[in-house]
Amino acid sequence: MSHYDELFAQDRAHFMHPSTHAHDHASGALKGRIITGASGIRIQDHEGRELIDAFAGLYCVNIGYGRTEVAEAIYKQAKELAYYHTYVGHSTEAIIELSARIIDWAPKGMKKVYYGLSGSDANETQIKLVRYYNNVLGRPAKKKIISRQRGYHGSGIMTGSLTGLASFHQHFDLPAPDIKHAACPHFYKAPAGMDEAAFVRHCAEDLERLILAEGPDTVAAFIGEPVMGTGGIIVPPAGYWQAIQAVLAKYDILLIADEVVCAFGRLGTPMGSQMFGMQPDLITTAKGLTSAYAPLSAVIVSEKVWNVIEEASSRDGAMGHGWTYSGHPICAAAALANLNILEKENIAANVADVGAYLNQQLRQTFEGHPLVGEVRGVGMLAALEFMADKEARTPFDASLKVGPRVSAACLERGMIARAMPHGDILGFAPPLVLTRAEADQVVGIAKAAVDAVAGEVL
Ligand SMILES: *Cc1c(COP(=O)(O)O)cnc(C)c1O
Repeated sequence: MSHYDELFAQDRAHFMHPSTHAHDHASGALKGRIITGASGIRIQDHEGRELIDAFAGLYCVNIGYGRTEVAEAIYKQAKELAYYHTYVGHSTEAIIELSARIIDWAPKGMKKVYYGLSGSDANETQIKLVRYYNNVLGRPAKKKIISRQRGYHGSGIMTGSLTGLASFHQHFDLPAPDIKHAACPHFYKAPAGMDEAAFVRHCAEDLERLILAEGPDTVAAFIGEPVMGTGGIIVPPAGYWQAIQAVLAKYDILLIADEVVCAFGRLGTPMGSQMFGMQPDLITTAKGLTSAYAPLSAVIVSEKVWNVIEEASSRDGAMGHGWTYSGHPICAAAALANLNILEKENIAANVADVGAYLNQQLRQTFEGHPLVGEVRGVGMLAALEFMADKEARTPFDASLKVGPRVSAACLERGMIARAMPHGDILGFAPPLVLTRAEADQVVGIAKAAVDAVAGEVL
């Protein structure tokens, strides 16, 4: 047995992978891949293949792979002080500096930052903060959280409930009772004959109807990604967030912006909130905060929510919430090095330029393509949605697995683009350092892959 055959045998025997078909993996029907190295926008695998990673891991390696500045910052911090906790007012220099830097990236009105290690745990913190806020304000019935169909907010018990994708609920007794789902703002799927403005009104009315049905005094918060990620890379229609925020304001409902994908430049603005004029009360960030060089999430708390928490402490004492690794110094050092690169190299400007170019090239290449119903995206995010009949907007039978087949065809041609879980959708979220020449390669490979699958299924 070769070294890798042995590793694969052990992998199949003992490693429980996330989101992986248990039987196909154990039997070997699912071919695994061992990643051995990476640099820039490319990863290398055990076969010595080099692949363009057009999904930046899981839309998280924003500065690209192999930046030694981040490795060195991690090393330096680990030598100096690998860990101390941050309970009861303890701090380290890295986490203090990082907190101020995150507030600079955030939209106006933000005050404090709380740390975890993942997007899921950060959203779990959000749910607790929302409960705490209303309980100390003497509104114990105001508890429910409204998320959206096809929204993605993590895979814990409560955060998996927020996620509006059935596969995250199946066999877990989810969603939990206090979580409700409003309409997904996907204009392409709007009822026939409805224009964009009417669809925005339709989404806002759907939300208001849900709030009224539940009872406004029982609804505490609304959570949404500025641009939906895992649900299929869905850019909301113009005016959507204004219309949603007007409904939330009417019923005194907090807005949680789940910026795990959008924050730190993925859309070309510091966070998604600035692009869409969102004024959230709470913000969730993770992925792009460290470009995944170390695990770290940040919950950003507005002055409005913070003031209530601070006042409550005079009466009720310290809030009983914390993780052992909250504000871990090694992760903070990685985040600071990452933000330094993003700022010094003005990577947001590269997103505005190359992201727009990538989206334009995808539209130009695929808008007339017989297999492609919709081309959509913004900044360094894009998606193709495949349709059996593009005129009638009829999807393919799910068993044909058209999305996964296009993704596999990309892989054969040396590129990773992700088959998204809801419908036949191919997603692109490359590292933010993508060049125009690399964007051309991405579009070229995608074209060859889509043509190949079109030849099989149309
Ligand atoms: C990935 C993601 C999460 C969950 O983050 P994990 O680190 O996987 O727990 C939450 N919200 C959004 C929008 C995400 O994309």
